[in-house]
Amino acid sequence: MTSRDEKQRRMEIRRKVGSRSLPKHVETQQGPDYLVAHACFDCRKSFKKAREREQVFVCPNCGSKLYSMGRSFKAPKKDHLEKWCKVQSLYAYGFRFFSYHSYPDAPKLPERFKDVEAFVAENPQHPFRVEEPNEALLPTAGKQKRPRHDRKLPT
Ligand SMILES: [Zn+2]
Repeated sequence: MTSRDEKQRRMEIRRKVGSRSLPKHVETQQGPDYLVAHACFDCRKSFKKAREREQVFVCPNCGSKLYSMGRSFKAPKKDHLEKWCKVQSLYAYGFRFFSYHSYPDAPKLPERFKDVEAFVAENPQHPFRVEEPNEALLPTAGKQKRPRHDRKLPT
């Protein structure tokens, strides 16, 4: 199933992603018309923006900074606070949302907010973790409003 070219391509990706230093902005190699989801964590909305270098976009709704989430980011529903906490936490820990097609061996990102910290601890070198963590972005408000899903749930 895995062709030689495919293997080579993956190795190339791994080399770019690296295991020691975290490269900045894997996606900048794409053209300017490459649309990437940018999220406002305050409004819990996502906007597709053409990504150009270090350009900073602000939320058309509230004026907060938008965060570039990666091409494969799917915005949760606005009222799905737990999911937004999850994606915001992953973002804060340096993860971006890429296609698993490019990283078939990558462990799947957690479904639940409560699983994020363990996931990050277990996968410090995850290929989607391309930025330095910014713990100031961790959703503290979400922790207070955190839904009571702490009991063990069937998976
Ligand atoms: Zn906003």
